[in-house]
Amino acid sequence: MLVLLHKNAGAAVGNQVRNIAKRLLTTTAAGSTTTTTTKTAPATEHYDIIIGGGGLVGTTLAAALAKNTTLADKKVLLLEGAPPFKGFNSSGPYQNRVSAINRNSVELFKSIDAWAHIEAARYKPVKQMQVWESNSNALIQFQHDNFASDVACIIENDLILDAVYARVRDSADNVKVLNKARIECVSLPGATGAPHSHVQLQDGRSFTCELLIGADGANSVVRKQMGVDVFSFNYERMGLVATLDLNMEEDSDNSVAWQRFLPTGPVALLPLTSKQSSLVWSTTVPHAKQLLAMESAQFVDALNEAFCREYPRIDVADKALQALNSFFGNSGSQHQRQYPPRVCGVQDGSRATFPLGFLHASSYVCNGAALVGDAAHRVHPLAGQGVNLGFSDVRILVETLATGAYAGFKLGDTQHLIKYERKCLAKNVPIMVGVHGLHTLYSTEFSPVVLLRSLGLQLTQNLPPIKNIFMKSAMG
Ligand SMILES: Cc1cc2nc3c(=O)[nH]c(=O)nc-3n(C[C@H](O)[C@H](O)[C@H](O)COP(=O)(O)OP(=O)(O)OC[C@H]3O[C@@H](n4cnc5c(N)ncnc54)[C@H](O)[C@@H]3O)c2cc1C
Repeated sequence: MLVLLHKNAGAAVGNQVRNIAKRLLTTTAAGSTTTTTTKTAPATEHYDIIIGGGGLVGTTLAAALAKNTTLADKKVLLLEGAPPFKGFNSSGPYQNRVSAINRNSVELFKSIDAWAHIEAARYKPVKQMQVWESNSNALIQFQHDNFASDVACIIENDLILDAVYARVRDSADNVKVLNKARIECVSLPGATGAPHSHVQLQDGRSFTCELLIGADGANSVVRKQMGVDVFSFNYERMGLVATLDLNMEEDSDNSVAWQRFLPTGPVALLPLTSKQSSLVWSTTVPHAKQLLAMESAQFVDALNEAFCREYPRIDVADKALQALNSFFGNSGSQHQRQYPPRVCGVQDGSRATFPLGFLHASSYVCNGAALVGDAAHRVHPLAGQGVNLGFSDVRILVETLATGAYAGFKLGDTQHLIKYERKCLAKNVPIMVGVHGLHTLYSTEFSPVVLLRSLGLQLTQNLPPIKNIFMKSAMG
């Protein structure tokens, strides 16, 4: 139902899900994907594994491969198009790019000895999350019983990169990093008949490998050369980020993440310290441009208004919620409702915008290549899932390669890589459909939809077993 609501995009997501389901059931191991040829050049160096793209996911993958005992003898090359990473200063101002990191991703960092680095610097545990409507009184709060464990952690992206790069540097014997190494073209064994995958950089250098992993983001060059079908569209929304100063009570902990669904998209505050939070405000492109251009004081007013402004109410939804709450013995959702802190300032230069889109590759592997992270899938940030799905790919790929290597499979053998794809699709597709469905559901003020989504949200709030299922899949 969620999918059908989004006109053409919804139908296309539905088709892709059906194709993927068919593929999960019927794919036989070999030759299930096609490859295309590009120009080849004499190889200069050979590696077991080349990772194209040293963002959060590619660099974490390099660290995880080096840490795995079965794969520790493999020679890995990490190719990153950007200049060398400058490092992270944990006593400097907070950065505007942060991620809500779930428990599974924290476990991955622990398993590769990167967590201690993050812990020693700074991160903010989230104890509770409150999500609410603008067209009715519906709201939902997520927290573990008695706040026993955190719902998520807010970590700056550069700190994650710093932590995983430190692990990669520790493994310099078997992981080599090349910066300013932009991949220009790729050729794969299925198309060339060559025994290895071949990578050519813009500066003319070239390499061969047993397995090429595309971690080069949503415009992946590796994915394009794999010849897989891609379903993608633009939400025609921008995600505006900023670092905010809050007007907090002295003894307040600021450990709640707040998200309000507005008719133009969700606005979220993610806690950083007792007096600062990070903003992710998804809105229309013209509105994002206006917000970016405003004076600081005007921007802060617009933001406070977004959190407290009264939007046109759907009466029938409020009445239905009242009835639902009295059925569950609540005098109304208002008694649990909390209000977000007032924003009193925005850090100079911290406002930036990012385009938001959806992308899914129908296949993540082919002979000699595999995809991870945004190269394979990209989601709306409203549920904080994007990079967590990428870290989940990393965990599954490293496990699959290790079992394959132990069983005598070649690293680039599709017969074995397909197991990675199956596991990832089973995990990623339901989350991606759910996130897209939420975006679709909350993009309308059409009364019957507001009624349905308000009842759905409030029912979930009132039924802990259902709420726990959502929490488990979103929070790892
Ligand atoms: C506003 C916003 C908020 C978000 N919040 C969250 C959140 O709270 N939680 C969450 O889980 N996710 C979140 N996400 C999603 C998350 O940021 C992405 O999923 C994540 O950054 C993807 O990482 P990646 O390493 O796969 O790709 P990228 O970050 O795109 O990295 C790709 C890397 O490859 C390099 N590269 C590209 N092309 C080439 C080439 N040809 N040759 C060599 N190198 C190349 C690039 O330089 C880059 O370093 C958010 C996204 C946005 C926009």
